[in-house]
Amino acid sequence: MVGLDKATVIEDVEVDDEQNAVVVHVRPRRATKRRCGRCGVRAPGYDRGEGRRRWRCLDLGTVQCSLEADSPRVECPTHGPTVAQVPWARHGAGHTRDFDDQVAWLVTHTPKSAVSELMRIAWRTVGSVISRVVAEGRADHDPFDGLRRIGIDEISYKRGHRYLTVVVDHDSGRLVWAAVGRDKATLRGFFDLMGEQRCGKIAVVSADGAEWIADVVRERCLAATLYIDSFHVVQWATAALDEVRREVWNAARRGGMTEHARDLKGARFALWKNPEDLTRRQRGKLAQIAKTNAPLYRAYLLKEQLRLAIRHKGVISLTMLDEWFCWAARCRIPAFVELGRKIRRHLPGIEAAMLHKVSNALVESTNTKLRVLHRMAFGFREPEHLIALALLDRGGYCPPLPGRSTPALAALG
Ligand SMILES: [Zn+2]
Repeated sequence: MVGLDKATVIEDVEVDDEQNAVVVHVRPRRATKRRCGRCGVRAPGYDRGEGRRRWRCLDLGTVQCSLEADSPRVECPTHGPTVAQVPWARHGAGHTRDFDDQVAWLVTHTPKSAVSELMRIAWRTVGSVISRVVAEGRADHDPFDGLRRIGIDEISYKRGHRYLTVVVDHDSGRLVWAAVGRDKATLRGFFDLMGEQRCGKIAVVSADGAEWIADVVRERCLAATLYIDSFHVVQWATAALDEVRREVWNAARRGGMTEHARDLKGARFALWKNPEDLTRRQRGKLAQIAKTNAPLYRAYLLKEQLRLAIRHKGVISLTMLDEWFCWAARCRIPAFVELGRKIRRHLPGIEAAMLHKVSNALVESTNTKLRVLHRMAFGFREPEHLIALALLDRGGYCPPLPGRSTPALAALG
């Protein structure tokens, strides 16, 4: 019932009436005894450590349950005096392996309040649990093995004041690495972990055109082509369009055209969305803008034209892009004139992505998912826990529920 295997001997079971809990007294079987808790190497005994201690395990129905055992230390040749390994829990954990795994599974499948309440643990504890689970998964399976095509991006947390740099694998769709910061030093940390040899095998790096990323990639990945995702180019265009919308909205407000200003404010989503996804009401809004606000409508068409140009792959899109440049240069909308210049500056990277058909869908979906995670991880104080949650969910490290079959590395949905 408590999910122990042959490596563990049960010595006694008692009911703790005061705490309404069951305590199961256990010891490791002789063959699994006296190993270093960190590396698993056999080592001579050192001392009795802190004596008897307890590990929370999964509830027995409505009753809480713990394992209790000695926790002696061994003298590891590498790690020195270390608490000995136990078959039922990860090193340094206050919960059993099954308990940890269930928390990790729940946190990727249910709201956080449900996890805390169901498992009767604080949200802080959830953070340490998933950090342990992810660390073990990464130790078992080299996350950098066979990387050829990667995407580098930044995501904000703490309401846009702090940033994480993230690396995704375009081939598997997995998040492979994340760290606090968005600068050269942070990204160099990733390539340091990769090592020179593996860096040399990276063929494609996609990014958003940021100079700090481009510089470090050129410095470390000598064989790589740097691409700029069309996803990011569309983001630039959307930002330019939003700038125009804000300007005409402010002008309308200042000019006392309150009704027109209100319409413009409501038109935000109509301008943002792809035309094929518009609702009938939003299409109406757009038609109205076409009639009443020529510059804003022109900006909208410029954005749409650019989106279509880079969505098509290959030579056609390059021709469309050329035409777009001419239009942008003479459109007399400062935000789009500037956008035209920016795109020209980054043209080699954008063309490379269009000609070689790098999939942006993966980065985009990872980004979307990370934003969801970020909202979910709001209660985490430590960014390390947020990173662990992201890796757990998008890196494929979510364990199966205890007692179910074990896929090697979970498939991503
Ligand atoms: Zn050791």
